[in-house]
Amino acid sequence: MQTLQSLTEDAKALANGMPVIAAKSSAKVIPIQAISAEAEVARALQICNACRYCEGFCAVFPAMTRRLEFGTADVHYLANLCHNCGACLHACQYAPPHEFAVNIPKAMAEVRGKTYADYAWPSALGGLYRRNGLTLSLALVAALTLFLVLAVVLQGQGLGALWGAEPGGNFYRLFPHNLLVGMFAPVFLFVVFALGMGVRRFWKEVKPATSGADVNRPAAAEAASDVLRLKYLDGGHGEGCSNADDAYTLARRRCHHLTFYGFVLCFAATALATVYHYVFGWAAPYDLPSLPKLLGAVGGVGLMLGTAGLWRLNRRRDPQHGDLRQKPMDLGFIALLFLVSSSGLALWLGRGTPALALLLCLHLGAVMALFATLPYGKFAHGVFRTAALLRHNTEKRQPNPIGLGAD
Ligand code: SF4
Ligand code: SF4
Repeated sequence: MQTLQSLTEDAKALANGMPVIAAKSSAKVIPIQAISAEAEVARALQICNACRYCEGFCAVFPAMTRRLEFGTADVHYLANLCHNCGACLHACQYAPPHEFAVNIPKAMAEVRGKTYADYAWPSALGGLYRRNGLTLSLALVAALTLFLVLAVVLQGQGLGALWGAEPGGNFYRLFPHNLLVGMFAPVFLFVVFALGMGVRRFWKEVKPATSGADVNRPAAAEAASDVLRLKYLDGGHGEGCSNADDAYTLARRRCHHLTFYGFVLCFAATALATVYHYVFGWAAPYDLPSLPKLLGAVGGVGLMLGTAGLWRLNRRRDPQHGDLRQKPMDLGFIALLFLVSSSGLALWLGRGTPALALLLCLHLGAVMALFATLPYGKFAHGVFRTAALLRHNTEKRQPNPIGLGAD
């Protein structure tokens, strides 16, 4: 292990723009030169490993103490374990303007963004992560809505088909149920397959670097609990993480919960409606107090409130916390989720009005745009972080390979 003195000398050299010599003990160790996002994380973590002040903040620091060196797989794993709460930046005595310039949230965010693209399936589409921004998301919604509007006009009696109440608010007269299933089912299956293949590649790389042990039931249960409670957005003390400044706030955790559970309820409503349709032969649309409508209404409101809150928090976020190049991707995903939920609720409320066709086109256009961008956008962070938490909860149950530190 490098001594604190040698790490200090390395950090000083890097801060002055001079190359430093890599640790010699392992061929797999990333050379400590400021040449890549991974190298920057490795440099910063070697300083953290000597300092360890932030050990109680999150899962990253206990996982770090199990390592003396940081290879590519270690860095990719730790970057996805980081929840970007910002706590370790505001607590750090070596953060900029200190010459060591330790900024863990930013360094981790840069590596995370890179891992989404590097592990993407198919690899050729990995570059979409860099283009999947707010403008593209909104343009996609507009284009798909326009396409559906034209379809309604061309299959109906001209523009008049766009404005007129449908008896019983039955929108399947405009887009038959089987047509909708035919449009969305293949895209949904592709989303699941592409994300599954991407996370499989990630898993194959990080598993040997995280003890190599298989996930057992207690580890899976603890990882599920960490995910469902968003444990690591509590700052390690329960008061929350940092957003605009060093003050603690639970707002990010709460807005994430509203968004996540809102999304899950909307998905459950759609799945249940499919069972109603195909198993019981109960034709949509459903109304209150049916279970699909209840789940959809509660989920839609949660998703709308959660994404509105996340948008506001994102706009006020301390720019030092993350990789600013990924901000358009974050905002694009938030905007799509907001549009899906708000247009869905508007469709429900406006079902009996002449605006039904236009509201339906807007809602379907937003859902299609969301589906099309899911495998190559911000949605990936939930999938990769869950995989990293599974590895963390597995690894920490194994003996500490260096016999130092504690989990
Ligand atoms: S982030 Fe800073 S304070 Fe925290 S462990 Fe690393 S060097 Fe120490
Ligand atoms: S930003 Fe938060 S989650 Fe990430 S390493 Fe720092 S304290 Fe941990």
